[in-house]
Amino acid sequence: MGYRIGYGEDIHAFKEGDFFPLAGVMIPGRAVIAHSDGDVIYHALMDALLGAASLGDIGELFPDDDARYAGISSSLLVKEVYRLVKEKGFALANVDIHLLLERPKILPYKKKMKENICSLLSLEADRVSLKAGTNEGFDSVGEGRAVKAIVSLLLEDKDGKPESH
Ligand code: MG
Repeated sequence: MGYRIGYGEDIHAFKEGDFFPLAGVMIPGRAVIAHSDGDVIYHALMDALLGAASLGDIGELFPDDDARYAGISSSLLVKEVYRLVKEKGFALANVDIHLLLERPKILPYKKKMKENICSLLSLEADRVSLKAGTNEGFDSVGEGRAVKAIVSLLLEDKDGKPESH
């Protein structure tokens, strides 16, 4: 059985506004500067998937100067990336997400966020971890100027073929 580890991270700056998305949940109070919808969890998740499958990065797949992706829901982009990963013969074993955000407290939204991720990836809850913390006042995230997500995950070769070297 072949395994591939994946890692991705994303950060978006806040601006004044009413809502910003995290794993498809609209969090009230602020907005983020972005070409797409600026969902840092979905963006980091896509880069981790692409990294594990060696399929490039989201900037290559969905260029930010391409009008087709302006304001697009990142869940659609995750679906497309996941389709490419599965097409290459991989299955997702688990996803570990770490969200860094000074405010607001996201505990009230975590359940729905995790449900969205499980649904999007067709994974049972036990295979998806969503952790959140602050940056203890440090840097742009800690100063409340940005939101960041880091994702690691594991792909397994669905066909059970040994990796060739
Ligand atoms: Mg992004």
